[in-house]
Amino acid sequence: MTCSEPLLSTLRYCMRCNIPETQEGVIFDEMGICQACQSSEQKIHIDWTERYALLQEIVADAKSKSGSGYDCILPVSGGKDSTYQAYVLVEQLGLKPLCVTFNHNWMSQTGWYNLQNLLERFNLDHVMFTPNRKLVNRLAKRSLEMIGDACWHCHSGVPAFVLSMAVKFKIPLIIWGESIAEASGRASYKDPVHHFDRDYFLKVSSKIRPELMICDYLNSRDLYPFDLPSAEELETVGVYGLHLGDYIFWDEERQVEFIREHYGWLETEMEGAFKGYKSAECVMAGVHDFTCYLKRGYARGSFQASVDVRNGLLTRAEGFKLAQKCDTMRPEALDYFLQATGMTEEDFFKIMREQMHPKIKGTQLPVTLPDHPNGERIKPFSQHILDTMAGRKDPREG
Ligand SMILES: [Zn+2]
Repeated sequence: MTCSEPLLSTLRYCMRCNIPETQEGVIFDEMGICQACQSSEQKIHIDWTERYALLQEIVADAKSKSGSGYDCILPVSGGKDSTYQAYVLVEQLGLKPLCVTFNHNWMSQTGWYNLQNLLERFNLDHVMFTPNRKLVNRLAKRSLEMIGDACWHCHSGVPAFVLSMAVKFKIPLIIWGESIAEASGRASYKDPVHHFDRDYFLKVSSKIRPELMICDYLNSRDLYPFDLPSAEELETVGVYGLHLGDYIFWDEERQVEFIREHYGWLETEMEGAFKGYKSAECVMAGVHDFTCYLKRGYARGSFQASVDVRNGLLTRAEGFKLAQKCDTMRPEALDYFLQATGMTEEDFFKIMREQMHPKIKGTQLPVTLPDHPNGERIKPFSQHILDTMAGRKDPREG
C-alpha cells in the first residue's frame, strides 16, 4: 500500500521535495527548503556560458602543466556520467584524458558493456584496479558493521586509486562528473568545491580510514590499496579536481537521452529505483540503497523523486508515492550479499537496527518484496562469465 504522504509522519521533510531531515548533512532554510532544492534554483540564474569559458581556461592551463602525454584524469565506472564526461572532454574540449577505474568487482553486465563501449568509442587509454573477490567479500562484511553500508571499499577505493594514478602519471587535473551541489548540501553552485584534498575524501566518501578497518579477518596489507597518496606526493604533482557539473548545466535526463542515442549507452533495471540509469554499473546498488532506507528511512526512490520534483516532472505528492514503493523494497542483491559475507539475514537486520538514525530509532520500517525478478542479473558479470564458460572445451560452442 502506498500513499502520497511521507512514509514517516514523525520526520520533517523538505517543503519542496521528498528529502527527510535524516539525510546526511541536510539543512533546511527558514522556509523549510533543503540545499539541493536551493541549488536547483541557483542553477537557473548562473551564467553557464561564462562558466564554460572558465572551464576552457582551466583545462588549457592543466594541459600545459601535465607531466605526461595526458591532459587530465577521467575517473570512469561504466555509469552514465562516465560516457557523458568522455564526450565533453574529448569531443567538446579536445582533451586526451587517461581513464581510471577502481573496479568494485560488483560490475553488472550492462556496466561492463558501457565501460568497454566508452573506451572503444572515444579511443581512450585505461587503467583499472580490481581488488580480489575474497577481499571484497570481507570488506563488505566489515563495512556493514562499521558504517552501515556494504560499500566502504568503493567509497575509499575510488579516491585512493584515482589520486594515486594522478601522482603516478604526473597528471594534476582530475575531472569528476556531477556537481556536489546537485545531490547534497556539501557545496552550492555559487561556491563550488575546487580543492579535493585527503581530508575532503575522508569526510565525504570513505568516512573511515583504512587502519580502522583492520580486524581479525583484515590486515594492513589487505588495506594497502585504500590508502590515499601522501599530502607531499599530491603537492609535488599539484593534484586538484573539479566537477564538470559546476561548469556545464547538468540535466541528467537529457544527458542520458543524448548518450543513449549517440553513443550506444545502455540503461538497465535497477532495484529500488524507478530510473534505470543511476548506478547501472553495479549489481549491489540495491543493498546500498536498502541500507540507507534502514538507517535513515528513505532511499533511492525518494532521491530520484526529489530530482524530478525539482525539475517539475513530478509533484511532491507523486514523489512520495513513488518513493515509498521503491524505498521499502528488499533487494535481490541482499541474497548475494549474505552469501558473499556469510552473514545471516538476522545478523544483517540486527546491525542495521543498531545503525538507525536517532530520529527513527526503534521505528518498525515496512519492508516489501519485489513482484518480479530483476531484469539485470544480480551477480557480478566477471563471476557470471566464469560460471558459464568453465568446463567448456571449445569457446566456439557459443
Ligand atoms: Zn528539497
